This record gives sequence, C-alpha cells and structure tokens, in this order.
Amino acid sequence: MVTDPLVARMRPFGTTIFAEMSALAARTDSVNLGQGFPDTDGPPEMLEAAVRAIREGRNQYPPGPGIPELRAAIAAHQREFWGLGYDPDSEVLVTAGATEAIAAAVLALCESGDEVVCFEPYYDSYAASIALAGAVRRPVTLRPAPDGGYGFDPDELRAAFGPRTRVVLLNSPHNPTGKVFTADELALVASLCVEHDAVAVTDEVYEHLVFDGAHVPLAGLPGMRERTVQISSAGKTFSCTGWKVGWACGPAPLVSAVLRVKQFLTFVNAGPQQPAVAVALGLPRSYYDGFRDSLRDKRDRLCLGLSDAGFDVLRSDGTYFVTADITPLGGTDGVEFCRSLPERCGVVAVPTQVFYDDVSAGRQLIRFAFCKRDEVLDEAVARLRKLSDA
Ligand SMILES: *Cc1c(COP(=O)(O)O)cnc(C)c1O
Repeated sequence: MVTDPLVARMRPFGTTIFAEMSALAARTDSVNLGQGFPDTDGPPEMLEAAVRAIREGRNQYPPGPGIPELRAAIAAHQREFWGLGYDPDSEVLVTAGATEAIAAAVLALCESGDEVVCFEPYYDSYAASIALAGAVRRPVTLRPAPDGGYGFDPDELRAAFGPRTRVVLLNSPHNPTGKVFTADELALVASLCVEHDAVAVTDEVYEHLVFDGAHVPLAGLPGMRERTVQISSAGKTFSCTGWKVGWACGPAPLVSAVLRVKQFLTFVNAGPQQPAVAVALGLPRSYYDGFRDSLRDKRDRLCLGLSDAGFDVLRSDGTYFVTADITPLGGTDGVEFCRSLPERCGVVAVPTQVFYDDVSAGRQLIRFAFCKRDEVLDEAVARLRKLSDA
C-alpha cells in the first residue's frame, strides 16, 4: 500500500495559496485582496447574450475548436487591436480559460526533459503544467529595480537558454508583479527565441490592462508570428473569471498541436458562454478604454492607501495587482505576514515568494488585488492603517 498515491512529479504542488488565503478570509470575515477576481459583473450585453443562448438551447457540445462566431470575433479582435492576422478556421482555438491553453501548449510542445524558460515569480499553474509535461523549468528572476518596478538581468536570461530550450513562457502584463515588459526586453526575448529556435507561449490575459502606453504582443516582433502561441481569455477583460473561456492563436501547425492535446483534456467547454464572449469582443473601443481607466483609478487608490499605511509599494504598470515590500512595517517573511494579517487587521493578501523557485528573491514581497469596488479598497486601507498605529 503506497502512503502517498500522488505521482512524484506533482508532489511538490500543495493546495494553491489562493485556496488557503480565501478560506482564511471567509473564516475571519476579512477584506479579501488576495485572489484576483472582480467583485462587479462584466458588460450587460454579454451577460444577456449568455442568458439568451441558454434559453435558445445552445446547451450541447460546441465544435472542438470553438464556435465559428467566437473564433471569427477573436480573429477580428486580434486584427483590430494588435494588427495580427489569424485565420479563424485554422489559427484560432477556444479553450477552457487561459489555464487550459497554457497547459495544452506545454504538454503539446515539450518532450520529457525539454526546458521551458519563464520569469519568476510565475503564475502558479506554469510550474505544474511544466511538471506534468515532464519538462524542466528554467526561471529567470524579476527583481525590484531602481525605477521602482521590476527588471531582470539580460545575462541571466541569455544563460537560461540552451540546447534543450523548447518553449519560452512569457506573461506581460505580468501577474503578480504588475510589470509590463519594455520594448527592449521583448526584443531580447524575441531574438533569443529565434536564435535558439524556441516557441514562445505568451500569456496575455491582461492585454487590455496596460495603464500607460500600449500593450505589445510578442507575436508582432520580427520572426515571432510563426513561432508564437498567443493566449488570452475573457475572464479578466470582461470580468467573468468563472466562465473559463480562453483562446490560443498562432500558425496552424502550432494551434493544431495544441488542439490535439486540448481535445483530451476538456474536449470542449462553455457552450452558451461562447456566443456571449463573441458579443463582448465586439464591444466598441469605449468599453475597453473605460475598463482600463477604471482599473487605473483603482490602482492609484490602493497604492496611495498602501503607502499611507506604511508599505513600500512597487510600481504596477498593468494587471489587477500591485506588490508591496513589508520591511518598513517590520515584516521579514511574506508568508508569516499574510497568515497573521487577517487576525491583526482583517485583510487578506498573498505572499509572492510562493511563486519563485528562488524564495529569497521574494521573501518580503506580498501582492494585493485592486480589481474591487472602491468602497472595498477604502475599507481595506482603513484596516491596514492600524498596522502602523499599533
Ligand atoms: C487569471 C490568469 C490566468 C487564468 O486565466 P483563465 O482564463 O481563468 O484560465 C492565466 N494567467 C494569468 C497571468 C492570470 O492572471
């Protein structure tokens, strides 16, 4: 009789920190700025379209690659916003959220022992997907930089590439740091991909949340369209994280490889939500601008409050998130700090060290989500102020 039936490659992965912290939030009646989901609904046109689809009987398996109207809407959105042309029939695939697209891409592209270059701290599903594939992650560390945001050492990135590099997994805008990779950084990633003949898998779920300037997809850089699987999702852009409608776009050979795996993970998902997301993708620019402006205001509101409460706040240029250093408040370890925070003042945040291989690089950093109603952010800040009063 085995004591732990779990396969060895998954044993390093415990319950996600979000589950632990959200349970803690519920138990202590805390303001939950841990998990990154919005507390308001997305565009009413989209919600109505989903209700209509259910009533009209669109409740059975959709086609494997996604319904044609959604694939067409994704292709149109790619062309309109990023100037990238994809054939909706062979170069666009609908998935069960970005999470499934990432997992299917890594499983489809990596032989056991192949290496995946990624930036740490990384979104928590990356390490697990790489492990499931039997691949090896080669993390490059993002560190607080003199400009107040995060940067990395270009030599560390160059050194992460080698003969077994198969995939580069890039997330920009980046969760949990709020970093938006600069043009120079993207150019370096692209040139290393070309030099080492690696495939880029890009997680762009925050493509519409760049607060200053414009989002730049890696696929748009020279030599990259033919080697990039570009991934996004409706969850963040349309405040419907529970729907799990995502997509992958890329050249036909890459997308059909991803589909080959995806069909045996979930086969299909979200029948009635697919037509609704097609409606959402067709909303006018004013929706996207209003969404970004609203989140920028929320970022400013929370950052100001966190500074007032005594945190050393790092710059967030995009996403739902901002990170803060707990050192000025006497903290040395983010996990300890976050576990005691609900008890001390009734707020939940997430320690970012759990998203590093090199834990010491993020030991004193914690992440707050600002995708919440203003009164919730204000209440959190009022409670956090008690930390420095005490
Ligand atoms: C939320 C998030 C995802 C997951 O997207 P789903 O569509 O919910 O699967 C993937 N990557 C990053 C960086 C995220 O923040």
